[in-house]
Amino acid sequence: MKQICPNCEKITDVQHIKTDEEITVKGERINVPVEYFKCMECGDEFDDPESKHDPLAFAYKEYRRRHGMMQPKEIRALRQRYGLTQKELCKLLGWGEITLSRYENGALQDDTHNTILQMIKDPRNLLGLVELQGDFLAEEKKNRLIGLLENAVEETHSFPSIYSEHFGKYGPDILSGFKELNVNKLFQAIIFFCVDGVLKTKLCKLLFYADFKHYRNNASSITGVRYVHLKPGPVPDRYGYYFATLENEEKAISVDEVNYGEYTGEMYHADIKPDLSPFSNFFKFRDKNIN
Ligand SMILES: [Zn+2]
Repeated sequence: MKQICPNCEKITDVQHIKTDEEITVKGERINVPVEYFKCMECGDEFDDPESKHDPLAFAYKEYRRRHGMMQPKEIRALRQRYGLTQKELCKLLGWGEITLSRYENGALQDDTHNTILQMIKDPRNLLGLVELQGDFLAEEKKNRLIGLLENAVEETHSFPSIYSEHFGKYGPDILSGFKELNVNKLFQAIIFFCVDGVLKTKLCKLLFYADFKHYRNNASSITGVRYVHLKPGPVPDRYGYYFATLENEEKAISVDEVNYGEYTGEMYHADIKPDLSPFSNFFKFRDKNIN
């Protein structure tokens, strides 16, 4: 193999060497593949001028991967998704104006900055930031940005990601119809049964019948929620907590007190449309009857 040796300043016979090199990133040793030429005449080692391989970039990429950090491409994509310039996003975040340019071009982001970038991946956080710190943006740009973020919030807004930790998790067993609790399905089922207005006791029974009918026919429940037996009948375990969350946090359902002579009851109404996409035919079939 022949190459121009920069030391001999002429074309010489060279050896193409492929090996591993250890690079230390923040005290962590990372093996990086490297390639270079060795001149057979003078013994000088030199890089392939054609090669685009950057050992340090490789080491940073591996370091980020090991630590679940965002990669430069992801950072750029996140920013571009909302049509923000590097300077604009830096200003929103209160960072020096070349910080993002450095990160997007391969510099290793510091841990605090990485945490903040991870946080603004959630459009709700970025939206909050724009509302709080976005006054320097042109009115039109700010409004467009808020619109994009509001859409993104709607798209990514799913119940389980928010609530599965909140409510704790339990696995499939006899009490949950051999199914893991699926908070999204439970919430959508509750909203579904509230579409035409339903009394609280009936709502609990409908959930129970739906889950137990499905359990009888398919050997697993729909929502995976556990039921407990109260005097008026079976109710989902911690149903008050679920209903209150949908009412107060999600504004998905609302409650009115209704009077039947000497009796009063709590009437639940759906304020948003249930998302039936997670369900198989059971609910979709019923939905046709309602609409
Ligand atoms: Zn040489």
